[in-house]
Amino acid sequence: TDNKTKGGGEQNLTVCLRVRPINEDEILAGATCIAHKVEDRVLVLMDPMEDPEDILRANRSREKQFVFDSCFDGASTQEDVYNSSTKFLIDNVITGYNATVFAYGATGAGKTYTMLGTDGDPGIMARTLNDLFISMEKTSEDMKYKVTMSYLEIYNEMIRDLLNPSSGILDLREDSKGGIQVAGLTELKARSTDEVMHLLLQGNTQRTQEPTAANKTSSRSHAVLQVIVRQQNRVKNTMQEIRTGKLFLIDLAGSERAANTHNRGKRMVEGAHINRSLLALGNCINALTDKNGKGYINYRDSKLTRLLKDALGGNCKTVMIAHISPASIHFEESRNTLVYADRAK
Ligand code: ADP
Ligand code: MG
Repeated sequence: TDNKTKGGGEQNLTVCLRVRPINEDEILAGATCIAHKVEDRVLVLMDPMEDPEDILRANRSREKQFVFDSCFDGASTQEDVYNSSTKFLIDNVITGYNATVFAYGATGAGKTYTMLGTDGDPGIMARTLNDLFISMEKTSEDMKYKVTMSYLEIYNEMIRDLLNPSSGILDLREDSKGGIQVAGLTELKARSTDEVMHLLLQGNTQRTQEPTAANKTSSRSHAVLQVIVRQQNRVKNTMQEIRTGKLFLIDLAGSERAANTHNRGKRMVEGAHINRSLLALGNCINALTDKNGKGYINYRDSKLTRLLKDALGGNCKTVMIAHISPASIHFEESRNTLVYADRAK
């Protein structure tokens, strides 16, 4: 159905996959393409192991198939990805529901390209705000929307404001209604897509990025764009806030395992924290999809899941966009990501 291809419909969890094009460095390293989209929603990953005997001995099959709600490859545009993964959430958020979209995958797999994009080809974050602005224009004397944005990072379980880095480390607070707030976080009224893109690109330069043994510019922080849509109606001659919808758009830290990077000391601690947030997120999602309904959701396990407490589960829609490189040299990482995404379903 149309809903299916748009990632919408009744389901609360949508899992998409994006395979970026192979790049020059990978080709120079002798890599071949091992990830192929074979049908609309189906990806095949080939085990690049040289000796087929070894594969048999290891009791593996050479090819593995994975099915997603949407599958994007090198032929997919930023607009395609936005249209099929996120656009359907706009109406939900305007009517007061909360939702979360997150980009998952190893460093270099394409998460930031999908979420932030470039000046010339914006990603999901700016496209979402743009559509919200268009919806906002359809207001009347008696009904108005206010859209605000905040942009933060979670690094080593510490929250920093990417729109105002000098404010230091911020705390999570629970308000009287049980809602979660980041105390002191900048909330900007956004007006145009250009302005939003400028703020996001600027904010991104403030993200904590440090070299590791495995990757020169590995992203060790989660970047979170929080969009709040407040609807105001005229009640007895005064405007009153009647509905609030929250949308989280998240560029997660690289999912490569700490064990794979030859790190010691500080980096190991970072690795542990990253795993803690990703693991907690994975556990929350598993609990959401538990068919027996017995899944206990422990939001308290990490900063990330605490922040998302009222935007995961319940009536909330969650979209996961998993990212992989198609190159044979990244087989292990890609397989880990595909298995994680599969587990989320
Ligand atoms: P990540 O955020 O997962 O570490 P990036 O988004 O920074 O990865 O992508 C790594 C590199 O690959 C960047 O130079 C980016 O511009 C490029 N890239 C990623 N995805 C695509 C894509 N779909 N099409 C073209 N280039 C891409
Ligand atoms: Mg990145």
